[in-house]
Amino acid sequence: MSETAPFTIEQFYKFMNEGKVMAAKCKKCGTILLPPRPMCIKCHSNELEWTELAKRGKLLTYTIIHVAPPQFQHLIPYAVGIVKLENGLKLPGMIRGIEFEKIKIGMELQIEIEKAQQAQTWPSWPKYYFKPA
Ligand SMILES: [Zn+2]
Repeated sequence: MSETAPFTIEQFYKFMNEGKVMAAKCKKCGTILLPPRPMCIKCHSNELEWTELAKRGKLLTYTIIHVAPPQFQHLIPYAVGIVKLENGLKLPGMIRGIEFEKIKIGMELQIEIEKAQQAQTWPSWPKYYFKPA
């Protein structure tokens, strides 16, 4: 199993490439760490395990990006939002597959994972985006 994989962002993206949204979970107090960290932010335990998250959530907030870093320049304008997953976890990401006017706070979105087509230098964000559920 993958439970012993290191609790890093890099590993988070590796799981994504396998089609899974994974977070670190503290075995002691149950806190879920997203992005994953090697130590619990609440009880400082390092007894963690990987847990798979649901790929649906509600849009908390969003913004339309008109000025982007060079690697995303070809995508502008695009929407970026923060989606609240189950367990209250918040995950930021691009919102695609919907017209800007139809984006609404509180709407259900789901995570769509784009697998890396080829070997890329890490990090090669985005590897996931949100689309209407
Ligand atoms: Zn803990």
